[in-house]
Amino acid sequence: MSDLTRNKRLGILTSGGDAQGMNAAVRAVVRAALEMGLQPYAIYEGYRGMVEGGKMIRKMDWGTVGGILHQGGTIIGTARCMEFMTREGRLRAAHNLILNGIDNLIVIGGDGSLTGANIFREEWVSLLKELVDTGKTAQDIIERHPVLTIVGMVGSIDNDMCGTDMTIGADTALHRIVTAIDAISSTAASHQRSFVVEVMGRRCGYLALMAALSTGADWVLIPESPPNLDNWEDKMCSVLRAGREAGRRDSIVIVAEGAIDRYGKEISSEYVKKVLEEKLGEDTRVTILGHVQRGGSPSAFDRNLSTLCGHEAVKAIASGDVRGQAWMIGIRGNRVTRSPLMNCVNETHLVNQAIKAQNFDQAMQLRGSSFSESFRIVRTFVRALPHPPKPGQRRLRLAVIHGGGPAPGMNTAVRAAVRIGVDKGHIMMGIRNGFEGFIAGDIYEMDWMSVNGWAPRGGAELGTNRKIPAAGDFYAIARNIEKFEIQGLLVIGGWAAYHSAHQLYTQRHLFPAFNIPIVCLPATIDNDLPGSELSIGADTALNSIVESVDKIKQSAVASRRCFVVEVMGDECGYLALMSGLATGAERVYLPEEGVTLNDLKKDLDNLLSGFRQGKRLGLMIRNESVNRFYTTDFMAALFEEEGKNLFDVRTAILGHLQQGGDPTPFDRIQAARLASKCIEYLIEEAENSDPGGHFIGLQAGKVLFTPLDDLPRMVDKEHKRPRHQWWMDIRPIARALAHPGPSVQGSEG
Ligand code: ADP
Repeated sequence: MSDLTRNKRLGILTSGGDAQGMNAAVRAVVRAALEMGLQPYAIYEGYRGMVEGGKMIRKMDWGTVGGILHQGGTIIGTARCMEFMTREGRLRAAHNLILNGIDNLIVIGGDGSLTGANIFREEWVSLLKELVDTGKTAQDIIERHPVLTIVGMVGSIDNDMCGTDMTIGADTALHRIVTAIDAISSTAASHQRSFVVEVMGRRCGYLALMAALSTGADWVLIPESPPNLDNWEDKMCSVLRAGREAGRRDSIVIVAEGAIDRYGKEISSEYVKKVLEEKLGEDTRVTILGHVQRGGSPSAFDRNLSTLCGHEAVKAIASGDVRGQAWMIGIRGNRVTRSPLMNCVNETHLVNQAIKAQNFDQAMQLRGSSFSESFRIVRTFVRALPHPPKPGQRRLRLAVIHGGGPAPGMNTAVRAAVRIGVDKGHIMMGIRNGFEGFIAGDIYEMDWMSVNGWAPRGGAELGTNRKIPAAGDFYAIARNIEKFEIQGLLVIGGWAAYHSAHQLYTQRHLFPAFNIPIVCLPATIDNDLPGSELSIGADTALNSIVESVDKIKQSAVASRRCFVVEVMGDECGYLALMSGLATGAERVYLPEEGVTLNDLKKDLDNLLSGFRQGKRLGLMIRNESVNRFYTTDFMAALFEEEGKNLFDVRTAILGHLQQGGDPTPFDRIQAARLASKCIEYLIEEAENSDPGGHFIGLQAGKVLFTPLDDLPRMVDKEHKRPRHQWWMDIRPIARALAHPGPSVQGSEG
């Protein structure tokens, strides 16, 4: 800490290719620095600004980074800079930094930019010595800045960096791609056409692979795992042909920019088009998505990833723990992490080398288990028809049911479950209309093509409702299990689904029919289920809220206005907090915390003083269940009456638009991954004389199963939410970045 008091300045720059979410990172760094008593400087246009100096290095204050969360690109500019690749360029950069008293740098860029930053750090002492030797600076400067500290964040839409699950911009790029492919699918299906879609990713197939997993594409080509056949073109065409014969109306092939064959030869989208035209005689179009993928407003995930990483980067510097070193901030399983920068860069280079050396097994292994698992799932999905059942194999009869409110991604999960189950030789059945349908026996067999086109579709094709069976219902359900010979049950849904599954599980001693494997898959926008940090549908709802709030904010440019926005979530504040973080709300009201009259008085005082100081917009996000009496209308009326003459107040109750919409890529990917694991689970447990009952979930980045027995102890039944909620730890960061604290001087909202 002692060194910190000597140097309280830090520089932030964005470098290399731009990525959506960089602005949120800049905002978080600037505001967190001010909160932690450091002075932030923006270095404009990446390393070019550092080499040029002068007005390219500017002091930032709280207000300079206001209103940028929703903007794509980077407001401080980014560039590629050849001069910084030379020692002379870096000498000038060092001189400019010490002229501004800066020896802490936060760099947001790709592996090139981060490697450059580390070289600069390693040379720092010798650069300063040269500046002294050539009379450009005084000796005591070296003593004042003995080391350079680097903290990196990865801004790259390709998700091509090791040491972090996600890079800044990748989720948004995937949003752009998936929206485009959904649109292309509808036109392709109308004309029965084939489309080749080229997506970015010169050295990493992440975008192509995840787009294929999310959209129901028919073939995908990525650099890490080229087709392992010499005549892969024939194989691809025969699969596409068979798909058409089975009833698919379109064929979509996704090609990563860096796709190669197994000899390392480029596979271009034009080549794929030629193959399809020649071998299939199909009218084929190529769409190269190009820079669209970099553009547009960042997704909720990218905003929050950047915000949390930016905050952590400043914390690392402020703590003094990383002084003189080079670290990288990333995320692993929803948690922000610090890793030694060069370890991450070197590991990234290993993947690239493995691809170059055509060591594809190693490349896939280095990408990690969820990448390979996604690839395996895609390979099943793209099949035109399932593998036929093996001779003599036991064919199970597995049923899928929903429970609770609709959640975007439910259809994606059912599609994945049906296709994987059928491909493994089993009979899949759909139970319509949730537990009501189970009681009534509304059950049908689902084949491979019955779920065609379901991947991108919002809503719940099978139907869902909040019915929880009681009394005589159990008898009816038991009879239907026997009648339809159901040997395993996948329950996809929210609180009602979990509760119902638990009921069946605990009544096994009364109804022997319930003695089948049961597994629950979390699907609710509320994200209020135990055993999973995220549930399917929550990401889609979060993005819907964030898009709506962006529009609401824009509607008020000319007036002084405070909005009270009400969001769903039932008794769980996840959507309120995360949407507040992503939109820069100054206050979020969470059911976990409740709200008192005193709180409202304090909030009102803050609003009054903010608007008095020239603030133009107030944004409060209120969860629907925060308080029965202090309703959204009550709060709005209170603020309006007390804020008379200073500002007016409007409410926006977002309502059901949060449950609708097509699922986001994240929800689709997780739905497919979890459903695939659930089917494997049911097949395995069906062999067991005492089959299990579990719920699946994502925990710290891993897919884990928790026994249904544990449900009661894991939930706060009165408030219908898990006892432990990981995201509650984020609250102080949301608060710190939305409000200038007393320590921040000369601030504006
Ligand atoms: P990215 O950071 O997205 O990988 P680049 O590789 O183009 O993008 O790097 C961006 C900038 O970072 C370069 O123009 C250069 O200024 C700097 N840079 C990259 N690699 C190095 C290096 N090895 N040494 C010094 N500077 C580098």
